[in-house]
Amino acid sequence: MSECLFCRIVGGEIPAAEVMRTSEVVAFWDISPQAPTHVLVVPTTHYDDAMAMSSADPDLAGRLLRAAGEVANSQGLDAGYRIVFNTGDDGGQSVRHVHAHVLGGRAMSWPPG
Ligand code: 5GP
Ligand code: ZN
Repeated sequence: MSECLFCRIVGGEIPAAEVMRTSEVVAFWDISPQAPTHVLVVPTTHYDDAMAMSSADPDLAGRLLRAAGEVANSQGLDAGYRIVFNTGDDGGQSVRHVHAHVLGGRAMSWPPG
């Protein structure tokens, strides 16, 4: 059994509210949403972070980014949205399985906290 939380969600060992699933990408609601829409998009293959994924498989990275946009469209985020890859300790990454946050449904502030 994997010790990686998101590998376990991908494998169905831990339930999540999924909005999209393909052979290589799974999208599911964040358990602690920071916006009216807050969905995480992860590859089914484990990579620690965005750099690891995009270095090993740039085509997968592109398809994951497209999937994030498709999630935004499917959630009706016509007014815009934010895609975030928190990376490393200073980036605020708490789960070391690469994931895109898709946030929307309210105006986002800048700079981020
Ligand atoms: P990070 O902090 O690594 O950028 O993002 C990890 C995200 O995973 C957080 O926003 C957190 O709320 C979410 N998260 C942590 N545990 C779970 C879980 O068990 N299920 C779901 N759906 N989300 C989780
Ligand atoms: Zn993993």
